[in-house]
Amino acid sequence: MNINQSHPEPSFRDSVDLMFSQAARLIDLPPGLEEKIRICDSTYTVRFGVKLRGKIHTFTGYRSVHSDHKEPVKGGIRYDLGVNQDEVEALSALMTYKCAVIDVPFGGSKGGLCINPREWSEEELEKITRRFAFELIKRDLINPSQNVPAPDMGTGAREMGWIIDEYKRMHTTDINAAACVTGKPLENGGIAGRVEATGRGLQYALREFFRHPEDVKKANLSGGLGAKRVIVQGLGNVGYHTVKFLQQEDDCKIIGIGEHDGALFNPDGIDVEAVRAHIVEHGGVKGFEGADYNPKSAEVLEQECDILIPAAMEGVLNLRNAGRIRAKLILEAANGPTTAGASEVLRERGIVVIPDMFANAGGVTVSYFEWVKNLSQISFGQMQRRLEETRAQMLVDELERLTGNSVSREFREQFVRGADELELVRSGLDDSMRLGYQSIAEIWRSRDDVPDLRTAAFILAITRVAEAYQAKGL
Ligand code: NAD
Repeated sequence: MNINQSHPEPSFRDSVDLMFSQAARLIDLPPGLEEKIRICDSTYTVRFGVKLRGKIHTFTGYRSVHSDHKEPVKGGIRYDLGVNQDEVEALSALMTYKCAVIDVPFGGSKGGLCINPREWSEEELEKITRRFAFELIKRDLINPSQNVPAPDMGTGAREMGWIIDEYKRMHTTDINAAACVTGKPLENGGIAGRVEATGRGLQYALREFFRHPEDVKKANLSGGLGAKRVIVQGLGNVGYHTVKFLQQEDDCKIIGIGEHDGALFNPDGIDVEAVRAHIVEHGGVKGFEGADYNPKSAEVLEQECDILIPAAMEGVLNLRNAGRIRAKLILEAANGPTTAGASEVLRERGIVVIPDMFANAGGVTVSYFEWVKNLSQISFGQMQRRLEETRAQMLVDELERLTGNSVSREFREQFVRGADELELVRSGLDDSMRLGYQSIAEIWRSRDDVPDLRTAAFILAITRVAEAYQAKGL
């Protein structure tokens, strides 16, 4: 890649493109196809006015389609003051590669609105969101068969609920209207397990990594996931769910939490639920008792730990701090947290990175389940649940009759109970994350010219997108 480590770093989009090109060189592609896959197909910029607090405020938003080799294209909508065209295009490219790696049948897209959501009341945000959605819907940039958004930084189920309502008002006879957006509230056609899906997927990704001792050894770690010391940056939707599950279900010790107003550190472990409650009440981590507070939030990234989870924003691991990172394993929960230059430095230092385009794909995976549920107009498990229960009941009854012994009540209850939607979603997500990891790790292990999991993930993604273009007859 030949990044000059003494020069300023490229933009987010250039950084993604650099890493893409490094991997593309290792694949035999027909002339011109590399460029076709790499470049962003289109970006629509919208500037619209909303009358608020007695005057008209003008907002700028974007919806970018990176690749429509498969449709609909898929990608979240971000609300943040830092949103710009370069960022939205980089994020839409990552969506293309992510969908390919995790094998969901979508192209890549992303949207963003330059706004600080904390500055506006709920009522004001609804007005702004509905107007932004209107601008995108009327150009088919939100549409169940062409372009399907989801939540991202600064947005959640609430915003998705407003968008679907706006879509329904503009398409009153579209029977598939509910599929125009994912990450919706359950009452609006959402799916069980979507809110925490990205965090759950990150947990499953980590569990799968630890099932492969040869990979664990490459990170200079040993044993299982239990008791590993974890630091997280960003305790929002993704970060909170990830470390909550790791703490409660895998016995990990969360020793550091970085937030927008500072960082908490305690080598004996921090109660994630208590910090989350503190943030909800006070708007930040400052004043939390039970850990040391450091107003220089980014310093938490440089503390010694086993697993570092950047879960806030892009570019936080860069050439300025990559040489000081003391984690053994980095799990990229945010999109693009590591710049191309930092990626190289971390690799040289023997730090293993589980890359974003695989690690945080749980959100889009469950979004895919939600979209399928909306199109089929029925909940997962509804048709077979009671049938499964009856059959399992018969089997246990027969087993008891033949052996003359009774199974325990606990076993009977667990074995006989048919799976509900949440269990099916978790099972499907676990399967996708396991297969995704196995596919990229296999490329990493089997090829001497593939230096890390990120390059392996790019190779898998580019190969799959190239196959889709070739099969289409571009
Ligand atoms: P969010 O808005 O729910 O949470 C982001 C958190 O980061 C907030 O708590 C915020 O206070 C904190 N933060 C902001 N600036 C910070 C700083 N300088 N230092 C430390 N913390 C800071 O957003 P999210 O949905 O959790 O998304 C986080 C990242 O994960 C983004 O990169 C997003 O693109 C990515 N992602 C999100 C999803 C999803 O389903 N929501 C899926 C895949 C990837």
